Amino acid sequence: MRILVCGGAGYIGSHMAKWLGAHGAEAVVLDNLSTGHREAVRFGRLIEADLLDPASLDTAFALGPFDAVMHFCARSLVGESVQKPYDYYDNNVVGTLNLLRAMQRHGVGKIVFSSTAAIFGEPVSARINETHPKTPINPYGASKLMVERVLADAGAAYGLRSVCLRYFNAAGASPDGDIGEAHTPETHLIPNVLRAALGNGERLKVFGDDWPTPDGTCVRDYIHVDDLAQAHWQALAYMETHAGAHAFNLGNGQGFSVREVITAAEAVSGHEIPWDIAPRRAGDPAVLVASNDLARRELGWTPRYTSLPEIIETAWRWHCAPTF
Ligand code: UDP
Repeated sequence: MRILVCGGAGYIGSHMAKWLGAHGAEAVVLDNLSTGHREAVRFGRLIEADLLDPASLDTAFALGPFDAVMHFCARSLVGESVQKPYDYYDNNVVGTLNLLRAMQRHGVGKIVFSSTAAIFGEPVSARINETHPKTPINPYGASKLMVERVLADAGAAYGLRSVCLRYFNAAGASPDGDIGEAHTPETHLIPNVLRAALGNGERLKVFGDDWPTPDGTCVRDYIHVDDLAQAHWQALAYMETHAGAHAFNLGNGQGFSVREVITAAEAVSGHEIPWDIAPRRAGDPAVLVASNDLARRELGWTPRYTSLPEIIETAWRWHCAPTF
């Protein structure tokens, strides 16, 4: 099996390419290296191409035939999307349309799409299942929801098979320390917490302690990156027997506040984490926790990393000896 892993030099995509290699599939990584790392691509061939340059996509598809595409390329920062909506709609919507057209030109009929909990906006229930209202409160979430709609329409019109996987908060690193999470600038909570734990002079900023949550800090559902990879693998199998467009929420089903993440990271690292309260960040909802019942039932998916310390432990190992 040969899979085109778009965005395979990035955090989640590189773990996916590694997973494919470990399961006997071939990954061809397409990436423009705008935020990804060449060093993260050790488990497949890297093709430098850009979703906003359709000719470069044809060069990548010429390396096929591909059994399916996995699409991790995206601008994915909530706060930045509020400041730069054109960039988000361009990369995430126009770029995906270019990719879908390239798939059509090259006869590839299956795609697993990286969607997000941000399509739901402010939750109206304690756990978010697939029927939850979809009213994004930031351009990032809106751009992903637009693509979900495009995929549903493409299923009806062209017979495209698709699975949208709505990640909650991806976290952790490869347990062997081979690859991990590194963004520049780093905006994500767990890497920032661990950098503060390493004591290189950085203090963590906690974005708001006046949210309507038990301790006043935002609550999120952290899911290990290899558990996300496992779900993509199962989504490939799912598309063999299920036509049309499908979508699943992927989280652990448990919420942890920013303060709880800090406490867990202090226990895992054995270091005190210095932090200050900062203003709320634009576009953040107070609470995001998944119901993962549908993914468990339909995909046969069972997350292996169920506790927050276990997830943080893998991230800590990589942060202590980063490979890029
Ligand atoms: N957060 C924080 N300090 C940071 C980074 C994040 O307080 O340095 C908070 C952020 O406001 C959110 C949660 O941690 O409530 C998770 O943020 P992250 O950027 O990791 O993921 P997101 O939920 O935006 O996908």
